Amino acid sequence: MDMNLPREANATATQAGGLRISAVSKSYGAVEVLHDVSLDVRPGSFVTLLGPSGSGKSTLLMCIAGFEAVGRGDITLDGASILELPPERRDFGMVFQGYALFPHLSVAENVAFPLSIRGMGRAERERRVADALAMVRLEGLSSRLPRQLSGGQQQRVALARAIVFSPRLLLLDEPLSALDRGLRAEMQEELKRLHGELGLSFIYVTHDQEEALFLSDQVAILNHGRIQQIGPPEALYARPVNQFVAGFLGRSN
Ligand code: ADP
Ligand code: MG
Repeated sequence: MDMNLPREANATATQAGGLRISAVSKSYGAVEVLHDVSLDVRPGSFVTLLGPSGSGKSTLLMCIAGFEAVGRGDITLDGASILELPPERRDFGMVFQGYALFPHLSVAENVAFPLSIRGMGRAERERRVADALAMVRLEGLSSRLPRQLSGGQQQRVALARAIVFSPRLLLLDEPLSALDRGLRAEMQEELKRLHGELGLSFIYVTHDQEEALFLSDQVAILNHGRIQQIGPPEALYARPVNQFVAGFLGRSN
């Protein structure tokens, strides 16, 4: 996908990206932490895994990314199982809470990293890095080191690095939780814009229900490793299926 293409062309290019999680269970040792989780992510949608700390959100994301093995069940992308694929062959972009930028590399070198390890030539690499930095509005900062950037800017670099290789979908684990309130609101707007412009499926993890409400097409609420309810935010607020969902959505952060 060329990130400079107009939106309609992007939408065609990224038509794929439908992820299906079917009855996935996962244990650490004798303890099962995901129980029979099923979830459909339609191509181009923004799906949020919402739940309290310890509910299994990160574990599910790690299973999707391929860094954790699934115990039972299947995960398919556009109809084909991805369980046998190592993480690097799943082609998913990932963004974490702590950015994990290389401190000794410049912004441009950080963003170019996924392209370098894929063996991409210099000219193409530079073009893509410039496109990705423009996407997250960091033009002009490419030679800075991470420590010379604000927290919000560092998170933008992490986003640029996650989209630079045209991933098939984007996985984000509490990417804004280290930012202060003002920056968080600004980055929420940015994520929404980016999602619209890229036309990619986003799977987003948060424990913040307001953030989930603002960003998502679909929210899956997890508790103790089980999906409690899935639906568009309005439907969850209007018709919570149980006490847990009602209580969780009703509280403020
Ligand atoms: P969340 O992201 O929703 O806070 P996690 O997916 O991190 O939840 O954790 C779900 C459960 O799995 C928790 O009980 C946690 O202690 C446990 N857990 C997570 N990672 C490991 C691990 N590597 N080994 C053993 N238990 C783990
Ligand atoms: Mg987590």
